[in-house]
Formats: sequence, structure tokens, C-alpha cells
Amino acid sequence: MQGIKTPSTLESRTTSAKSVKKRVTLTFPKRAIQMPVTYRLAKEFNVAANIIRAQVAPNQIGKLVVELAGDIDQLNAAIEWMRSQNINVSHSLGEIVIDEDVCVDCGLCTGVCPTEALTLNPDTYKLTFTRSRCIVCEQCIPTCPVQAISTNL
Ligand code: SF4
Ligand code: SF4
Repeated sequence: MQGIKTPSTLESRTTSAKSVKKRVTLTFPKRAIQMPVTYRLAKEFNVAANIIRAQVAPNQIGKLVVELAGDIDQLNAAIEWMRSQNINVSHSLGEIVIDEDVCVDCGLCTGVCPTEALTLNPDTYKLTFTRSRCIVCEQCIPTCPVQAISTNL
């Protein structure tokens, strides 16, 4: 993984009230199938869950593909809560990959990122990528003048 920016790089904690969407696949263990997850997400995190596809049979492991909408910090808190309930949350889309060897830290991509997943470190002027904030909208890809950004799809 050398040369690739990872979530362990310094994270930006700036809050944003902008609503964003993330499409995820939820896999429920048996004991969580009856849990009113979408209700809890709405009530406790103000996150709307739009079910795209459901495969849930009584007493079996269930799968839901949902589009979550809400503030990025609330979305991430909701995902953390689901994981704490042993619900597996995987991102339905691919992930953004930034090639650190190619990136020249020009900062152009930070201007189009709606969730502040891409920021320039104010001390080092280096690009910082916070993967947990990325919603894979791909808006950053065409802005990069040196093609340092891609998806792993
Ligand atoms: S795909 Fe790019 S622009 Fe979109 S949220 Fe992720 S880092 Fe930001
Ligand atoms: S636009 Fe490309 S070169 Fe510029 S900071 Fe972003 S990834 Fe790096």
C-alpha cells in the first residue's frame, strides 16, 4: 500500500450540514433481522434510508441495499452504530484511490469534494484523504490534472 493515501493520514473534522448520499449493502445477523433499523437511523441520526433491494427471509441472514441520506458526520455515526449491532456494512460502490506518487498536492480536487474527504493539510500543504467521508461521487476524478485519482472498480 506504499504510495497510496489511507484513512490513517490526518483526518479533517470540519462539520458540514450538507446532505449527502451513500449507497451501502447491509448484511444482518439472525438476531438483528427484526430490528427496526431504518426507524432508528431516522430517529437517532436523522438519516433517511431508502431501500433499493431487500433479501430478507424469516430466521435467515438478511441483506439490504440501501441509499443513506443525511449529514456526512451523522451518516458515519449511523454506520458505526450499525456495525456495533453486528450488522455488516459494505460500500456498494468501489473506493477512491489516490496515487501519492503522482499527486502534486495542487489542491484542485479539494474544491469539488462535497464532503471534505479531500483537504489540504494546513501545515504541510499535502493532500489528505479521509476515506470515511468519501461518498464515491467521483467528482474529484476529472479535476485532477495529473490523473492521480481513480476508483478500484
Ligand atoms: S469521490 Fe472524490 S469528490 Fe466525491 S466524496 Fe469522494 S473524495 Fe470527495
Ligand atoms: S487534483 Fe490531483 S494532483 Fe491535485 S491535489 Fe488532488 S489528487 Fe493531487
